[in-house]
Amino acid sequence: MGKPTGFMEWQRIPAPKRDKAERLEDWRELHLPLAPDEAKRQAGRCMDCGIPFCHQGCPLGNLIPDFNDAVYRGQWREAYQVLSRTNTFPEFTGRLCPAPCEAACVLAIDRDAVTIEQLEKEISERAFAEGWVKAKPPARRTGKRVAVVGSGPAGLAAAAQLNSAGHSVTVYEKDARAGGLLRYGIPDFKLEKAVLDRRIALMEAEGIVFRVGEDVAVTPGWRALREQYDGVVLALGARKARELDVPGRELSGVVQAMDYLEHQNQVVTAGAQPDARLEAQGKRVIILGGGDTGSDCLGTALRQGATNVMQVELFPAPPPVRAKENPWPRWPLVFRTSSSQEEGGERAFAMMTKRLEGENGQLQRLHAVRVEVQREPGGAPKLVEVPGSEQVFEVDLLVLAMGFTGPRTDRLVEELGVTLSPRGTVQVDAKFATSAPGVYCAGDASRGASLIVWALADGREAARALDSWLSGAASVLPTRGQDCAF
Ligand SMILES: Cc1cc2nc3c(=O)[nH]c(=O)nc-3n(C[C@H](O)[C@H](O)[C@H](O)COP(=O)(O)OP(=O)(O)OC[C@H]3O[C@@H](n4cnc5c(N)ncnc54)[C@H](O)[C@@H]3O)c2cc1C
Ligand code: SF4
Repeated sequence: MGKPTGFMEWQRIPAPKRDKAERLEDWRELHLPLAPDEAKRQAGRCMDCGIPFCHQGCPLGNLIPDFNDAVYRGQWREAYQVLSRTNTFPEFTGRLCPAPCEAACVLAIDRDAVTIEQLEKEISERAFAEGWVKAKPPARRTGKRVAVVGSGPAGLAAAAQLNSAGHSVTVYEKDARAGGLLRYGIPDFKLEKAVLDRRIALMEAEGIVFRVGEDVAVTPGWRALREQYDGVVLALGARKARELDVPGRELSGVVQAMDYLEHQNQVVTAGAQPDARLEAQGKRVIILGGGDTGSDCLGTALRQGATNVMQVELFPAPPPVRAKENPWPRWPLVFRTSSSQEEGGERAFAMMTKRLEGENGQLQRLHAVRVEVQREPGGAPKLVEVPGSEQVFEVDLLVLAMGFTGPRTDRLVEELGVTLSPRGTVQVDAKFATSAPGVYCAGDASRGASLIVWALADGREAARALDSWLSGAASVLPTRGQDCAF
């Protein structure tokens, strides 16, 4: 283990960030590296628990105490080897994961958890800097051809695993470049796209073929795709956005979050021309949706030069500390402040939009009412409007970040014969198999909008199940928390 008394001697030091004023001037990543000595102390806080609850919290089953111990001993290469056994892309989770492992860390019962996520980033960046991360093409090919549809984290993880098992993998992506939400949703201030490009270049060097700008639903079509390949993984994401069904929705100035974020990502990394409709400079901005997508929109609007920004959440603010019915090691439902919320803007809770108003087709005002949660004995809690609580807000740009309702499944059911769940996601069994033989599904497309770490975990498990289906034997690929068999 790290240092037996480390957790008593050293406080948790969170990832350092660039100064707020400085970071609002550019789109560069806001987190800074930890000094190596500090990383060592932070890893030394790990108690190497007999039952490491962090494992349980991590969807990938990362071997957390083992890599913490290696960092504490200064054995960074060993730490990378341990981390990369279970996590295909620690450079993504080390930057972007909300860290359910930290919520489950035993230290979090009565003090601050180990900084597991930050240590993942430190380990993976050191591994890249030292040249330890190298393309590892498989020693032999199986002769089986696999198509992965979608190049978000689920598709990338499935492709990497299936390729490592020797199958010839082609990734189809309808967008112009690979990466899914890592490229088109998440802003550069959280993930600079060079980090993504570095990984995709490695995957290409390992023999994975990327066919970008190809919507499989159109060309070649699902049925033709299935005929061309021995197996298919659907990793389509869940990008159908929830709509705001109120009078005035059609006004100019009302945009969906993904249109807004994708545009800015294209301006930052693909040299696209700014589109005045999707620029916040000099505008009063309201963002509907208090979650992570809304928070990314907030950071984007502040960097674009909005006059003011308000992020509005429909539900009341969560409590500052865990409620009794939300005990450790469950994910704590508590009030949080994201790095973007730290940078500026206002936050409003328990507010429901009733209608939008404008002139000459342009949005000008948002009418909202306060709501509160009512619980009746035996009934589900419901939101009710507070009489006489109407408020009117001046607004030029309204960004809808109210979540996603599921994947786009055009012609998927008819042509491929997969079944959809009552929620509209792709139905899978416990091994990620759809109802169509040889067709598996991973990530948001089957789980519903979720997290990168779940997309990676699902992608890896779907790859394992497809590998076994293709070979007719036990898979050579590892399951959650296990090392590779070859
Ligand atoms: C703004 C935003 C910020 C987020 N921030 C975080 C975060 O900080 N941390 C975190 O853990 N999670 C975050 N998430 C959630 C996370 O990004 C998703 O859970 C994750 O990307 C899902 O991965 P996926 O591979 O299933 O889907 P996606 O990343 O959505 O990728 C699916 C891909 O499939 C492609 N595709 C779909 N249909 C076809 C077709 N017919 N032919 C070819 N290609 C197709 C799409 O173009 C897309 O590229 C965020 C989400 C959003 C929207
Ligand atoms: S639960 Fe926390 S302290 Fe215990 S092994 Fe995991 S990271 Fe270390």
